[in-house]
Amino acid sequence: MYKVIHYRNKCIGCGVCYEQQPELWRMSKKDGKATLVKGVGKKDVYILNITNAEIEKTQEVAEACPVRIIRVQ
Ligand code: SF4
Repeated sequence: MYKVIHYRNKCIGCGVCYEQQPELWRMSKKDGKATLVKGVGKKDVYILNITNAEIEKTQEVAEACPVRIIRVQ
């Protein structure tokens, strides 16, 4: 099982993850940061299990994040 981990506190709100993968990401109207849809977490670290079909795209998004706060493992 693969999962995506988002270290949200360091998000700069650039919107790249949302532009590339809107099914997994939203931009918060409250603080302008990205939110991992259905992600579960605390202390600004959010985790979501992803399907095999989502792995490749999510890895691309992780590499595109300018501050490298998205991990797939
Ligand atoms: S690509 Fe990275 S820095 Fe940009 S909004 Fe998404 S998580 Fe935040």
